[in-house]
Amino acid sequence: MKHIVSGQEVAVKILKAILKSGRVAHAYLLKGPAGSGKTALARQFAKGLLCLNPGPAGSGLEAGADTGLSCNMCESCSRVDKGSHPDLLIIEKEGTSIRISASHGMIMEVLTRPLISKRKVFIVDDAEALTAEAANALLKLLEEPPAYVNFILTTSNETAIPATVVSRCQVIPLRALPTGAKDDVDVEVPVDAILRASPVDLALEHSKADSQDRHRFLAALELRFAQRLFSAAMGYNRDESGEHMECELHGEHEMSGKGGDIALMENFRVLRAITRARRRLAANTNPFLVFCTLFMDIQKLITEEI
Ligand SMILES: [Zn+2]
Repeated sequence: MKHIVSGQEVAVKILKAILKSGRVAHAYLLKGPAGSGKTALARQFAKGLLCLNPGPAGSGLEAGADTGLSCNMCESCSRVDKGSHPDLLIIEKEGTSIRISASHGMIMEVLTRPLISKRKVFIVDDAEALTAEAANALLKLLEEPPAYVNFILTTSNETAIPATVVSRCQVIPLRALPTGAKDDVDVEVPVDAILRASPVDLALEHSKADSQDRHRFLAALELRFAQRLFSAAMGYNRDESGEHMECELHGEHEMSGKGGDIALMENFRVLRAITRARRRLAANTNPFLVFCTLFMDIQKLITEEI
């Protein structure tokens, strides 16, 4: 089975060693260019931190795992897959920034003990998007977190994060993946086909899959649209600053003719739709209806010419 974060064997090795040693720092920063798989890897690492079967090398850790970071069998692992783990909190951008309200939510959550796992994990995606105020609040949390709290920050632009925050984190670098490697995940997600096919046909096909395959597909779909979002964001930055910035993602030419901010919002909204779909599946909504709504949303949101 291929690794869901393929091409990042070195980073996976480091994270695996951290889990096996049991000496876990309070905060990690996964840094890598857009498309390097840091978002997916942050979730895999969080899953490993929360896993209820953390065994010594060669025990439950390796069996059936995507990256070997978690057992993939316990209640905690299955809740992470379903997006319904009460001890995993994901802080993401609202629009283009992570605002202070997100930090307020984090502070409240830091104060309450974990419910299922021994730890409580906070993922802060795109930490460079923290507003100064939000970064200051996070810094306070990083200074003296309760023993059960871990933070995983991700970024493609470390220099845009206050140095005081970075200095509190153990930095895990991810390498830039060669062109094409970003598609080397478990599930093929052909966006073109999704934009062209009938939502009903697509929904019929995906609602037939078992629950694990459905979640795997949603994870791959999320990764695909996250990559498109990053790609759009990089194009946008370049336009705004007027500076040349090397775009790490190739094969995204379909968006070149469109304003970066439009592509940014479209892909962002698709990611929200995927999150909604995941929540509905977790709440036992009829999978056919969930997928039908999702594919209709995607076709409505992505306006590029096909
Ligand atoms: Zn587990």
